[in-house]
Amino acid sequence: ASMADQEARFRASVTAMGTVPAERRRTADRQPAGTTFDNTTDADPALPEVRAWARERVRARPAPLTSPVLRTTAEVDAVVARGRAAQPEWAARPATERAALLRRAADELEARRGELVTLMVAEGGKTIEQADPEVSEAVDFARYYADRALELERGASLHTDGARFTPHVLTLVTPPWNFPVAIPIGGVLAALAAGSAVVIKPAPAVPGCTETAVAALHAAGIPDDVVQVVRADENEVGQGLVAHDGVDAVVLTGAAETAELFCSWRTGRPGGPRVLGETSGKNALVITPAADYDLAVADLVKSAFGHSGQKCSAASIAILVGSAGRSERLLRQLVDAVRSLRVGWPTGLAATMGPVIEPPTGKLRRALTTLEPGERWLVEPRQLDGTGRLWSPGLKDGVAPGSFLHLTEVFGPVLGIMRAETLDEAIELQNATAYGLTGGLHSLDEEEIDHWLERVEVGNAYVNRHITGAIVQRQSFGGWKSSAVGPGAKAGGPNYVAQLGEWAMDGLPA
Ligand code: GLU
Repeated sequence: ASMADQEARFRASVTAMGTVPAERRRTADRQPAGTTFDNTTDADPALPEVRAWARERVRARPAPLTSPVLRTTAEVDAVVARGRAAQPEWAARPATERAALLRRAADELEARRGELVTLMVAEGGKTIEQADPEVSEAVDFARYYADRALELERGASLHTDGARFTPHVLTLVTPPWNFPVAIPIGGVLAALAAGSAVVIKPAPAVPGCTETAVAALHAAGIPDDVVQVVRADENEVGQGLVAHDGVDAVVLTGAAETAELFCSWRTGRPGGPRVLGETSGKNALVITPAADYDLAVADLVKSAFGHSGQKCSAASIAILVGSAGRSERLLRQLVDAVRSLRVGWPTGLAATMGPVIEPPTGKLRRALTTLEPGERWLVEPRQLDGTGRLWSPGLKDGVAPGSFLHLTEVFGPVLGIMRAETLDEAIELQNATAYGLTGGLHSLDEEEIDHWLERVEVGNAYVNRHITGAIVQRQSFGGWKSSAVGPGAKAGGPNYVAQLGEWAMDGLPA
């Protein structure tokens, strides 16, 4: 078969893996302890061939990186000046033209799906099942923000009369390593849709993913000067870029502490530090006695251990309400599901859970290796090899209100169980953290669902669904409380593009 056929097959296969039909999951969930949890993909007759092909690609030596590493203040200045010089021409193009380029970028990203997936596997330690939807998300961002660019030009965005929008001249995007395609490209595309020029500094662990995704944008016809990828290995150089006077706004996705640091570097400028941050989360999924436990377990495991729990949206606490907390069946299913995750290096393509990004230290190490008062392991995590990065998943029972695991984001493969007598008590535990990013409820009772939705303090509230993997437009993504910094419009939502500039009202005194 030709390379193109193989690529098509590979794509069809990875797409299919993301959508295991619910009824098949449910049948598997009901297997007795010790059986494999989810093996449906092995039924595909083309799979051995697809795997062999993909294995070769992910093991191939990655292409050398092409983006410059900035080392001096003069180099930082030059990059900023280049972006600022390119912006007026970009902003002056009619929105229809910019939108058309964004749509073409969507097609170019789609055309590189195989390459992007394999890079995410190789650089970021993602499994194929985790990497493939990220390409889809990037494609969705491109098409969605293209429409917002048109809306913005019509002045429809904020429903204001006589308001004029002026885009930021230069936007800096600083993405995290955990979503090395969708988050960087989402930020870049939003800024482009607004009419801003962009500098993007990929996370040091995953620069190839960002370079390849930005190459797709350039191939679509977006000028090189309008989107520049740069690396900065030394902290002072990165700080120089973040704090630079020529950078109008910084789009940051990362830890809450990083957002605080960025804001402190940018204080003193008119209009505030202008850091648009989506930050940390400490997210819980509540299961009531009115839940379908089979579905709840599948969604909980997916939410807690997808990408080894390294998502700010991940479920880190399960709160079992009333008799759900006393159900042996529920606990047994959960233990079984956690045990049956296949942990391994994703380049082997058999793993359902990959490594953590670096050997755990600090909070994650504490969560993986320590029991706090009242806690006990239902599944004890183990370090599986000498690299220190491969850990089997952990399931802890007896997490106490106010304890370390209840309130602290640990960003790794550990799930804690808490219990509450009533739904109100569960909501109180859920809302007790400083963060408010995602939260879930599993219940088939409409009154419980309404009650919970009215009270839960999170940006993304999911009912009878896993709590990761927000879908552009349908579940625009962003948090409340300490999970957001700046104006706080949500990614993939209506006002995200419109916050990347200045608004002025005609006829009002300045
Ligand atoms: N948007 C991702 C999700 O919904 C999470 C992004 C993050 O972890 O930063 O799962």
